[in-house]
Amino acid sequence: MILSNLNSTFDFCMKDNNNLFAMANCMYKVLSIPVFLLLLLFGGCSTSEEFSGYPYDPEGVTETSDKETNPHYTRVIGVNDGKIWVSNDFPGARMSDFYQVNDSLYRVTINPERDAINNSPWYAFQIWSTQPDTIKLQLDYEHGQHRYIPKLSDDSRHWQRIDSTNYSADTTRGTATLTLSLERKPLWVSAQELLTQKNYTSWTDSLAKKPFVSHDTVGFSHNDRPIVKLHISETNPKQSRGVMIITGRLHPPEVPGAIGTKIFINELTSDTALARDFRNNFEVWAYPFANPDGVQQGHWRYNARGVDLNRDWEHFNQPETRAIRNDLLTLKGDSLRKVYYGIDFHSTDENIFYPINREEETFPDDFTYQWIDSLKKEYPDYPIEVEPFPPNSPITKNWIFHTFGADAVTYEISDTAPRDSMKAVTRESARIIMQQLLDEISN
Ligand SMILES: [Zn+2]
Repeated sequence: MILSNLNSTFDFCMKDNNNLFAMANCMYKVLSIPVFLLLLLFGGCSTSEEFSGYPYDPEGVTETSDKETNPHYTRVIGVNDGKIWVSNDFPGARMSDFYQVNDSLYRVTINPERDAINNSPWYAFQIWSTQPDTIKLQLDYEHGQHRYIPKLSDDSRHWQRIDSTNYSADTTRGTATLTLSLERKPLWVSAQELLTQKNYTSWTDSLAKKPFVSHDTVGFSHNDRPIVKLHISETNPKQSRGVMIITGRLHPPEVPGAIGTKIFINELTSDTALARDFRNNFEVWAYPFANPDGVQQGHWRYNARGVDLNRDWEHFNQPETRAIRNDLLTLKGDSLRKVYYGIDFHSTDENIFYPINREEETFPDDFTYQWIDSLKKEYPDYPIEVEPFPPNSPITKNWIFHTFGADAVTYEISDTAPRDSMKAVTRESARIIMQQLLDEISN
């Protein structure tokens, strides 16, 4: 038990190794384990399972009452006698200030919504020049270090990763420098593709045109944005059926996870024999856009009140998590509906699945391990990591397990996953999971 804690602490140290501060913090945690053991032996402490945050979390992350957030002002800024301009006046934008450093170097500064925060430094802004010009632009972060490779677009819909010859990251200073060709038409520069409320609404509206899909509002965020639920089913109302729960976008910058959520749900609603069979036996309760305020406000991690929504699944202090929980609790005691599985989509620096520890008995048991094995056989060259976790943290997946006894997984897609292969693999995992759930329900 202690050893496995040590191992996972080291894993997280390795993941954060480009961040010296996080590394020092990690080493402190590793070195403090013997002290913790002494306390356990002599201090009568019996809370070795108590969770206070993962090593990459800021202190106090599980205290989820409302927090003060830093203001982020909407700005259109011109420098160099009004030749070069930037703007953050659109949903999902994050850009705090803009300077000219010298004849050819400019600097954008990017601040998070709270100083104590994970290193997921989101940025998105427009930049243009009154006459054609090539400039160097430095991205400089407060309370964070550069992480996301810039994506460029001239319409905010079609995106391309910046050419590597036009981009360099300084891992010591935590900055990045881009070479950009500017003209009058604004160029969009963003940490990942922009996927905001407007995109979700048009997607859920078009899905809801299918006779077996409906969308409802189960609650509202702090800033009165709807928490939307997609309900997918072709089951006979009188027949017993399984339920699969899907959540997504609790963390605003995790766009590959958001793209994955859409691909996955699209496959469940497709016109294949497998999907039809699945919908005849299972309902899907999906909440793909769980943190609308955080996304619209260009946050690095939190909702509008500075809280990590994936640490609020014990105290439910936030309206977004409460809305989803209250809706799901109607499944408790429902004699016709049984929860079989839960998936919570995220992104990190690799493709990694976090199943529940194998020693825990789930229903169905070992479901996650089985479908991942099948997926790895289908895509032997696609990098996939698996790291089981004890279900002792206040995260979505663990709440699903504790509340319904069902198996559940945190499904992380790499920040840098090539979009085409990521889409193909996610579609395949939807197919494998549907087939495996059908096998379970017919047993
Ligand atoms: Zn996440």
